[in-house]
Formats: sequence, C-alpha cells, structure tokens
Amino acid sequence: MIIDGFNRVHDYLRISLTDNCNLRCFYCMPEEEYAFTPASKLMQAEEIEAIAKVFIANGVQKIRLTGGEPLVRKDAADIILRLSKLGARLTLTTNATRLHEYVDVIKEAGINSLNISLDTLNKERFIMMTKRDQYDRVRSNIDRMIQEGIHVKVNVVAMKGLNDGEIIDFIRWTKDVPLHIRFIEFMPFSGNRWNSDRVMTWQQILDVASSAFDILPLEREAHETAKKYIVPGHQGTFAVISTMSAPFCGDCNRMRLTADGKMKNCLFSQTETDLLTPFRKGEDIMPLIRQNILDKKKYLGGQFTTDMEKIETSKLENRSMITIGG
Ligand code: SAM
Ligand code: SF4
Repeated sequence: MIIDGFNRVHDYLRISLTDNCNLRCFYCMPEEEYAFTPASKLMQAEEIEAIAKVFIANGVQKIRLTGGEPLVRKDAADIILRLSKLGARLTLTTNATRLHEYVDVIKEAGINSLNISLDTLNKERFIMMTKRDQYDRVRSNIDRMIQEGIHVKVNVVAMKGLNDGEIIDFIRWTKDVPLHIRFIEFMPFSGNRWNSDRVMTWQQILDVASSAFDILPLEREAHETAKKYIVPGHQGTFAVISTMSAPFCGDCNRMRLTADGKMKNCLFSQTETDLLTPFRKGEDIMPLIRQNILDKKKYLGGQFTTDMEKIETSKLENRSMITIGG
C-alpha cells in the first residue's frame, strides 16, 4: 500500500496522457503562448502500462486518464486497451469532442463511467470560453454516451459573471436525463486569471439551487470529492466540488502522473518527482513513489487555505492545470 504521513491510503492514480488539447478553456491554459510537449518527451504507451503496473502492484485500484485532452493523443485507444487489462477500474475525463470515435474502445475496455466537461448550455458562450466551435458535437456525444448506458458526470466550472446564471438550467437537465452535474469551484493555477471574486462557492451554488428546487443531500462515499444532492423526482443528481471553500483533503487517496512522467501528490503540490527518467534507466521507482507520498502536505498542497482573499496567485508554485492533468 502507498500511505502518506497522515495515514491516508493512496489507491487512486490519475494519469495525464498529454498536455495537448483541441479546446482552449481560459481557466485551464496559461495566459502566455504555450507550446505543447512534443510526443517524444511524453511517456510512451508501453511505459504508461509498465508504470501503471507498479502502482497497481502496490495497491492502486482505480486509474483515471486525463490531460490536456486524453483523446487527442494518437495512441489513446492503444493506451486505454492496455490499461483496461491490468485489473484496476479504468475511467476517463474528457471534453467529449472526440468521444464518437471511441465508442467501441470504451466498450471493449469495460469503461462504464465518464467525466465530461461542459461549462455552458449556450453555444455562443461555449465558443467564447473554449475558442472552438464544438458545442453541438459535445452535446451529441453526451447524449450518445447516455444512450450507451454509460454513467455520465458533467463537470461544470462555475464562475461568477460567466456561467453562474446557468446553474438552474444545468440542474433542470437532470429532470429527465440520468446524468450527474458536478459544479466545480474555480481553482487557481499558474497563469489562469483566477480571482477570488470569480469563485462561485458551494454555499452560493446551493443558494441558487434551492431558490428553484427542493434539494436533498445524498450520502457521501469515502474519498468522494463531490457533495451530492438530488431534486426529488429527477432522474439525475447534482453535486458541488468545493475544493476552495470546503476541501476534501482529509481522506484524499489521489496521486497524479503528468504526461511527461512526473508524479504529483496533490493538484496543488509545489514539487514533483520524475519517475520517467529513472524508469527508463531501469531503476526501481517504488522508493521514489513512497517518498513522494510521504512528502504530501495535509491540505491543498500546503500552498493556501480556504481564506480565498489571502491567495496571491503570483506566489503559487505549480504548473498550469493543462500540464498537470485535472
Ligand atoms: N480535457 C479534459 C476535460 O476538459 O475534461 C480533461 C482535462 S481537464 C484539465 C479536467 C477537468 O479540470 C475539467 O473538468 C476542467 O473543467 C477542470 N478544470 C480545469 N481548470 C480548472 C480550474 N482552474 N478550476 C476548476 N476546474 C478546472
Ligand atoms: Fe482542454 Fe480540458 Fe483544459 Fe478545456 S479543461 S482546455 S478541454 S484540457
């Protein structure tokens, strides 16, 4: 087992397949011009498989592939199929623009749950937020996945003055469709124009939700990041991921591997451990993994607290979200 200094067992690994993406969400990409990592510097398919095996042999039970956009990687299907045979539960976070090309792969890999990002139900706003005209494709792919019987969670980064007026519309979507909306509090990363005034907090989201619906809280499962609710009579649910106002670090079980093979023990960790270079030299990476997790801070990478007014983004030491893997 992989255990940190606070006795938290780490059995969930999120692997970024690439820092490349076909959308340009401003809250995820750094402000300055950004060159995607060339394919030669990324972990290769067989390296991802072999490193994943090391984690699984040490207790990892669940793997999520993310990015960047995992499905823009040319060998994404090969990687998905390789990892699906390792005995851990496999899932994916995607912007859904390419999902229609992966229906068979998803089925063959036995993936039955997907996290899909969609921040607005308004086509013009989607184009404004992502700089790409892919709204119709994303909506049709979400419908397709639901028809295929996949458990779909829709991630919505809730931001004041942008999409906060759509909270009720998103919850209304769950009335007749069995999907699960998850409002995510806007998080600060290097160069992502974060400002505490733009964060729509858990409480504020609930206030808006209760102004239109009767809502009931659902039980929290262990390690769950989302605080879940249902409107009685609705087929789907909604939830809030309250990283900023009420973090869920207490029973965190998550580890991250960037596309260039660096391990991060927290989304907000200042430091990272290169696993790929020693792996390529044939060294045992397990001592590095254990040390990385022993160095894990108790809350939020040790970089800030829930007092959002005090967060100075210029002082945060981290990568941008697109290079970490959300
Ligand atoms: N491209 C895929 C996608 O968009 O689902 C996977 C990678 S993306 C980085 C993973 C998740 O992180 C998405 O749901 C995205 O909305 C979320 N995300 C990115 N930047 C964020 C931020 N600053 N605050 C909160 N969530 C963020
Ligand atoms: Fe791409 Fe996902 Fe980041 Fe948007 S949130 S830029 S889709 S990686």
